[in-house]
Amino acid sequence: LADMNKLADEYLRLAYHGLRARDKTFNAELITDFDQNLPLVNVVPQDIGRVLLNLFTNAFYAVQQKQKTAGPDYKPTITTKTFTPPLGGWGAIVRDNGIGIPDNIKDKILQPFFTTKPTGEGTGLGLSLSYDIIVKAHGGKIEIESKEGEYTEFTISIPATT
Ligand code: ADP
Ligand code: MG
Repeated sequence: LADMNKLADEYLRLAYHGLRARDKTFNAELITDFDQNLPLVNVVPQDIGRVLLNLFTNAFYAVQQKQKTAGPDYKPTITTKTFTPPLGGWGAIVRDNGIGIPDNIKDKILQPFFTTKPTGEGTGLGLSLSYDIIVKAHGGKIEIESKEGEYTEFTISIPATT
């Protein structure tokens, strides 16, 4: 059984500190809103950890890219929420105010090896692996909402197992 709030918090910090170790000037506001009544979930913690780590890594990359062209007032922000879906189980929302996802690639990003990142910066496997873990292995869902140049929001959820 996994405490998903603890996992989300740990991997958020891991991603942030990993990035700051490479780029000391990078700063982002981290907002968290964790559902304190979240049930413990019957999953392998490392599996969901990999999914969360990839979502956070993608989010930080997106705000870092936006910062390159945005004005001095731009404030990179990553918002993480956890919630209990209506039918039970567990859910998390990761939102960033980064570069967003262009409409013409939205239906490709879950495919293995699809990446818009330069060689060495992305394998394109993060979201396809997430799909395998969340959707195929746990019968859950991945929902994506994004506006190019403005924000991206991933919602992942897995149903209760009784
Ligand atoms: P990788 O991170 O190695 O590129 P992923 O499977 O994690 O592979 O993501 C695939 C692609 O989806 C990314 O290259 C990027 O184009 C797009 N993407 C994913 N998350 C975001 C995000 N938060 N903001 C903007 N684009 C994203
Ligand atoms: Mg990735």
